Amino acid sequence: MSTTSTYEAVIGLEVHAELLTATKIFCSCAARFGSEPNTDVCPVCAGFPGTLPVLNGKVVEFAIMTGLALHCDIAPRCKFDRKNYFYPDLPKGYQISQYDQPIATKGFLEVRVADESTRVGIHRVHMEEDAGKLVHVGAAGLAGSDYSLVDLNRAGVPLLEIVSEPDIRSSEQARAYMAELRLLLVTLKVNDGRLEEGSLRCDANVSVRPAGQAQLGTRTEIKNLNSLRFLQKAIDFEIDRQVRVLSEGGVIVQETRLWSEERQVTYAMRSKEEASDYRYFPEPDLSPLVIDSSWIADIRAQMPELPAARRTRYVDLGLSPYDAGVLVDQMELASAFDAAAAVSAYPKAIATWLIKDVARLLNEGKLRLADLPFQPEQLARLVDMVERQEITVAAARKVLAAVVAEGKDPAALVAEMGLAAMADAGALRDVIERILDAHQAQVAEFKSGKTKVLGFLTGQVMRQTQGRAQPQQVASLLEAALARR
Ligand code: ADP
Ligand code: MG
Ligand code: ZN
Repeated sequence: MSTTSTYEAVIGLEVHAELLTATKIFCSCAARFGSEPNTDVCPVCAGFPGTLPVLNGKVVEFAIMTGLALHCDIAPRCKFDRKNYFYPDLPKGYQISQYDQPIATKGFLEVRVADESTRVGIHRVHMEEDAGKLVHVGAAGLAGSDYSLVDLNRAGVPLLEIVSEPDIRSSEQARAYMAELRLLLVTLKVNDGRLEEGSLRCDANVSVRPAGQAQLGTRTEIKNLNSLRFLQKAIDFEIDRQVRVLSEGGVIVQETRLWSEERQVTYAMRSKEEASDYRYFPEPDLSPLVIDSSWIADIRAQMPELPAARRTRYVDLGLSPYDAGVLVDQMELASAFDAAAAVSAYPKAIATWLIKDVARLLNEGKLRLADLPFQPEQLARLVDMVERQEITVAAARKVLAAVVAEGKDPAALVAEMGLAAMADAGALRDVIERILDAHQAQVAEFKSGKTKVLGFLTGQVMRQTQGRAQPQQVASLLEAALARR
């Protein structure tokens, strides 16, 4: 925590999400990433005079869906406005956005840090078009470049702007809010969640105020936070900076700042623009948008299960809230869990295997489940065998990699590798007796009270049985054998 006890941080996030529609918001050009520069362009998105925008219905559908997922009110009627400014990446000289009548308002997002849950208000969600992209050629950055190129592929790509209330109180909460919002947007399939590529962008508004003061302090807005880590670090830096300025008797200037990852600081970019600078006025080429309640109901009915509901369902299946959270945060593990749990009597054990062993295998090999022949049903079968004590945990670990990476049948692997559990207590007793005979010195140590040697003897038994003996059974038989000596 970077706030001192005398100051409290106040944070609000503005998030821009590029929508995964096939086409742009006001024309039929493809809305995709990575095309040759200026190839997904037509007279409408290039801003030719005399062209007219036609609203893409899918954008409205995605906006309604997002609004509903954020518990917003959906406006029965809203409109588009022109936000006027000049920049070379904006050929029309204005951006079509929504100003005073956004499509969705007054929602919230539940955000958890450790065990504490906070409801962050959603002020508004509105639709707008993205601008083009400037490519500065030569030395790094605009200032040092020889010349700049304009790529209009991104001009007219649909965006949702999602504005939170200033309800966030720490950088950890801001990060958790952004992670949860990203998960929600990706779950809804309206956005790809790629902060690094800029298809999901986040600006952080940060202020501090003396603890207990009701009035908000002057804020700065930090832009270009293209990872969760940068978001958190930039906010921490900014809180410290503002507290320092105020403690030294200075004042905070309302301005836009940038995060520098090299220098680990935020620095001033420009003074903050006001809404009046943009000369907003209603877009005359688009009629007001009327949304009837049956459309909203249809969209609501099509919505997938949301992360919060999924966590609750997992807890109801017997998972700990922590495990439920870990699975839901990693969508591919959650899908694997659903498929495996559907055919198993042991959902809690499946969750543990996924979170610990499967996740470790994936991390070590830098693998993704989607790229593997992995079948969740096979994992379920493996876990079932462990739970029914047909194989030991150690044996299951030996076959897991082949099950995950090669999609092999665990029962066949167990038979092939001779890993079925030693169910025969008599055979295990014989092994133990032989080991104790061969380790008289350790047995004597144990007898003299040095019980630590038990670990060594257990290890010998496990080695001898190649992990096929159940640890609980080994422990009880070993104890009994030692007591008899
Ligand atoms: P704009 O940036 O266009 O002026 P708003 O005034 O609506 O827009 O605020 C944008 C964001 O800044 C919102 O997320 C809001 O919660 C947040 N915000 C507003 N005032 C403060 C403040 N004093 N401290 C921190 N965040 C604030
Ligand atoms: Mg802003
Ligand atoms: Zn176009």
